[in-house]
Amino acid sequence: MSDCERGEETMKEIKCTACERGCTLRADSDLYEITISGNKCPRGKEYALGEYINPTREVTFNVRVRGGSSPVVSAKTAYPIAVTKILPLSRLLLKLSVDAPVAEGQTLFASLLGERIVSTSAVEKEAL
Ligand code: SF4
Repeated sequence: MSDCERGEETMKEIKCTACERGCTLRADSDLYEITISGNKCPRGKEYALGEYINPTREVTFNVRVRGGSSPVVSAKTAYPIAVTKILPLSRLLLKLSVDAPVAEGQTLFASLLGERIVSTSAVEKEAL
């Protein structure tokens, strides 16, 4: 993605990942409207508007586990989150841990910076 500002007009190139064609889209905006071009279908326009206005990503993490057969469990955000939240959320998760056992799909944290974090694998309790 690249930005180009000319006074109050802004242009951004966006690679569409909504399908395997991977079209290069262009978003041009001024004070009044955002114009999308380069899309081969309506999905591309929707994708580019989302990326331009509020880009989001589904993010995966490793979360530390206390007393588990594995020291970490893989996890992800329940929904795609704003790109601006990825770094603060990653830093916060480095300081946190959960108790074993952990089931796949379990909510590990209900609202970290307003986001739900769920496990994507299971960790048994450590055998004594
Ligand atoms: S614009 Fe349409 S055809 Fe092109 S990559 Fe996006 S979804 Fe696929």
